[in-house]
Amino acid sequence: MCAASKDPPTDRQPSPAHLAGARVRVVVAHFDDEALFCGALLAEMRPVMAHLHVVVVTSVETTSAPREVTAPLPLEIERRRRRVAAFDAVCCDLDAGSSQLHIPNLPQTSTRQDANYQERVRTIWAAVRQTGLFTDADVVITHGFTGEYGHPQHRCVHDAVMSLAGSTGPTEIWTFSASGPADLTYRHDTRAKSRLLDHYRHQKVDGSLWLPEHDPRMREWTGVREWYRIQRVVNDCESPT
Ligand SMILES: [Zn+2]
Repeated sequence: MCAASKDPPTDRQPSPAHLAGARVRVVVAHFDDEALFCGALLAEMRPVMAHLHVVVVTSVETTSAPREVTAPLPLEIERRRRRVAAFDAVCCDLDAGSSQLHIPNLPQTSTRQDANYQERVRTIWAAVRQTGLFTDADVVITHGFTGEYGHPQHRCVHDAVMSLAGSTGPTEIWTFSASGPADLTYRHDTRAKSRLLDHYRHQKVDGSLWLPEHDPRMREWTGVREWYRIQRVVNDCESPT
C-alpha cells in the first residue's frame, strides 16, 4: 500500500506560495474534468508554477455515461473534434503541455471489487508511468477517492495515480474534494474558470449547451469554491496488485 499521509492544514485558502516554482501534473479521466474540477486553481496559479502538464486518461472516442449515446457519423466525428479542440484551447490558455492516453471508460456500474476495475487501475498505472511525467513532478492533481459524484472512471484514475505516486517523484498529491472534508478550500471569483469551461460549451452536437451549472452531479464545482485534499507522498510503493 502507498503510505501517503500528512497532517494537513484545515480549510486553508491556497496562496501562490503553495505552487510557486512547482512542476504540476494534472491527471484526469475525461476531457473537461481539468476545467470543471480544478480550472480556477490552474488558471489563477499558473503564473507562479514552473510547469504544468495535463493528462487525459480516456479517449475522446468513448463516452463517459450511458446517457451519452454515441452519435452517428458524421456527428460523432464532429463531437470528437469539438472535445479535442476545447481541450487544446484550455491547455493553450493555461500554457500547459498535454497528453492523451486513450484508455477506454469503465462501465458506469463498475466497483472497486470488480476484476475489470482492478485491471483498469493497472493499465492506467502503467500508461501514466510510461509518460515519465511523475519523475520530476512536485505536485500531482487528480480525482478524489469517491470519484467526485461516484464516477468509476474518476475513482480508478485516483487509485492508479495514488499507487504510482508512491513509487515515483511527486511530493504531494492534491485530490478533488467537495464541500465535505478538505484541506484547502479555494475561493475564486469564477471568471477565469468560466473562460475555461466556455471552451467546452459546444462539445455537444445535439444543439444543446454543456451546462455543468445545471447538472446536479457537477453543480457543486461551478460556484465560487474548489476543494482539495492534500497528501504528502512517502515513496515506498510497488505496482498495484
Ligand atoms: Zn469526468
